[in-house]
Amino acid sequence: MDTGTNQRIKPITAETKEHLFIGGCDTVDLANKYGTPLYVIDEVTLRSICREYIEGFKEYGNIKMMYASKALCTSAVSKIIASEGFGFDTVSIGEIYTVYKAGIDMNSVLFNGNNKTQREIELALKYGVGRFSVDNFYEAELLNKIALEKNKTVDILLRLTPGIECHTHDYIQTGQIDSKFGFDLSQIDEIVYLIKNSYKNLKLRGIHAHIGSQIFELKSYHDEVEILIKEMERIKTVHNIDLDEINIGGGLGVKYTENDNPPSVSDLAKTVTESMKKYSGEIHTIYLEPGRSIISTSGVTLYTIGSSKQVPNGRKYVAVDGGMADNPRPSMYQAEYTADIANKINEPKNEKVTIAGRYCESGDILINDIVLPKTEAGDVLCVYNTGAYNYSMASNYNRVEKPAMVLVNNSISDIIVSRESLDDLISHDSIPDRLE
Ligand SMILES: *Cc1c(COP(=O)(O)O)cnc(C)c1O
Repeated sequence: MDTGTNQRIKPITAETKEHLFIGGCDTVDLANKYGTPLYVIDEVTLRSICREYIEGFKEYGNIKMMYASKALCTSAVSKIIASEGFGFDTVSIGEIYTVYKAGIDMNSVLFNGNNKTQREIELALKYGVGRFSVDNFYEAELLNKIALEKNKTVDILLRLTPGIECHTHDYIQTGQIDSKFGFDLSQIDEIVYLIKNSYKNLKLRGIHAHIGSQIFELKSYHDEVEILIKEMERIKTVHNIDLDEINIGGGLGVKYTENDNPPSVSDLAKTVTESMKKYSGEIHTIYLEPGRSIISTSGVTLYTIGSSKQVPNGRKYVAVDGGMADNPRPSMYQAEYTADIANKINEPKNEKVTIAGRYCESGDILINDIVLPKTEAGDVLCVYNTGAYNYSMASNYNRVEKPAMVLVNNSISDIIVSRESLDDLISHDSIPDRLE
């Protein structure tokens, strides 16, 4: 099959045997061995999407892949993605520290975000972060001041809002966009002038934009490239500064359910490469920052089914031992998922149920109206495509321990994030003496 990895619902290694297998491991055994909820990452799927990005853009040549680590940032995942030739787009000192401690080349790290604090900037410089994406006037001044104190010159990109906004199918283009991120196009001349004349410790290398997430529409990338290239050429004409780097952000969509039809990485590569050639006479360095499309499909979450409730003449709710704290996306943005019963993977699907979480919120529903084999307490539910924005958005709501994460490959499973303990939960608490 020549389906792109991000065009699949399930990990590449998903197999139907007596149970659902992933990475050669029986998912029911994984649930028994490590407990549930359990995040599972399939190494084959992760490496294969990374290779699709590298391969797809090979023809263009001058390309740098940066994984947007906010989608899922752990030490082992960072290590794997770096070994496939990726750098990292980071948005906090916590993400920077994670990749630094994982031994990643810090020159390949970009620090991005609309309100980097002074402490974060100082530490990022200490750890040797290669690029800053400067988001606003305040940050440019602050970064220059800190760089001057440390006697450093910092390579920067300017984050701008190109007037394109897209969320899945919708895509709008306007002159101006109401966004908290980046410089409006009308503010570019002022910031470039300041960098050139006042901020001597900043070295402007290029421009940066990110137009949305879970994007299905390739035309938005075509238009983004056009706007960014024209802006670079305008900066050259007006300010006589030659910029080389163009960072087009991330955003490629994934297939959560049968209703989602994201384009493949190779189609994205064709669009970007062709529009670069169309609008630019020169070969620039292109940066891409995929997050979701890199990690989503390789992740699944295993849960154990417990209680259920048949509303008289209504829905049947089936509750699992996790929910909105390990996957906030359904309750935050009505995100949809699909799932199987891992231990009943060969049984006919003939019962419509709603999968409820265990948290004390009526909105804690993971999947509405899914048809599954008849469920019972003790069944293992496998929810697909949970690699991105699940663990990275997880909380301890209701004081529940965050789940463990295992990496599977070739029938081997390894813990890459251990399950939180009850003592972890109270480890930051303290009781003032006067209460004793
Ligand atoms: C979130 C983000 C990304 C990654 O977006 P995905 O939709 O996960 O690919 C890339 N770049 C920037 C600047 C971001 O904020």
